[in-house]
Amino acid sequence: MKKLSANETDLHIAGEAIKDGQLVAFPTETVYGLGGDGFNRSALARIFAAKKRPRFDPLIIHIAEMDALDRVGDRGVLPFSLREKAAVLSRTLWPGPLTLVLPKQPEVPDLATSGLNTVAIRFPSHPVARKLIAYSTGAVAAPSANPFGYLSPTRAKHVEELLGDAVDFIIDAGPADIGVESTVLDLTQEPVRLLRPGGTPRERIEELIGRIENVEKTGSAPAGVLSPGMLKSHYAPKTPLILLTRDEILRQIASHKPADGAVYLFFDEETREASGAADGFVLSKKGDCAEAAASLFDVLHQIDKLSAGYIYAQEAPERGLGTAINDRLARAGARGGV
Ligand code: AMP
Ligand code: MG
Repeated sequence: MKKLSANETDLHIAGEAIKDGQLVAFPTETVYGLGGDGFNRSALARIFAAKKRPRFDPLIIHIAEMDALDRVGDRGVLPFSLREKAAVLSRTLWPGPLTLVLPKQPEVPDLATSGLNTVAIRFPSHPVARKLIAYSTGAVAAPSANPFGYLSPTRAKHVEELLGDAVDFIIDAGPADIGVESTVLDLTQEPVRLLRPGGTPRERIEELIGRIENVEKTGSAPAGVLSPGMLKSHYAPKTPLILLTRDEILRQIASHKPADGAVYLFFDEETREASGAADGFVLSKKGDCAEAAASLFDVLHQIDKLSAGYIYAQEAPERGLGTAINDRLARAGARGGV
């Protein structure tokens, strides 16, 4: 594995490597991705192997210009109302942390989509990601650059520690700004469904296209089949994590019965102070959801190195990016498969 920086020379080297079928870890505004040519079957197979990702979990194809959308997805077969929704969302929220699931073009390899007839597409806003995509093949398959099921990487050093030589290059451009993965939206049928809460708040999407359905609450199909990112256990640290409300974490500490070697992860400083706990990690001093999302995975990576017995984590408020934080914490705490 070779480290690169974000200068033009290095980005061209990385672009050529992707054209050549190699794997490049790169920053996006959400988390670090593990990129390979979205149309090259052997590069796609290497992505699955490097992550030990099961073949049933499809990849997101990243593009860097609007025209590339129709090379990957086939909006033409959608009914008018869904075409319109796709147009409004892509025009307003791209580039950005939103992934759209659309009917796929036949040229997209089955390996990228796990044999589904749909494909997930995202246009990231990070300038380094955009250049890398443009300097390579214009369609880069890139899941998060971590072993399957483990915490996502928000820094180049996380990728180095987690994947090492399974990756050909890592581009280091500092920490990811948003810190949680993209919101995944299924636009292939009405009602539009939220497959994964993420960096684009649900409220913002509903302002643009009206009510969307939450897959978990429909019970219409096993979530694991619809979108494997909805697996019950995912984004998980090695340390067992227990998710608590603000009141529960205060009671737990007041009872003076914290489990041996427990570490507390507070959402805000105010709760830490109210608890009287002298230590513990705080996601956002002022209790800001965007700031908390940006530090979530980095703090969990740090805690996982302490070999603590348990992590007691406080829920975020269920609004804006708080919904994605709570989703990740709930999956981080779930044990034992789907
Ligand atoms: P990540 O590993 O963070 O890139 O996760 C990608 C997410 O997108 C996973 O939750 C996938 O299951 C989901 N996804 C990708 N392609 C599709 C698709 N065609 N239909 C539904 N979900 C998809
Ligand atoms: Mg992932």
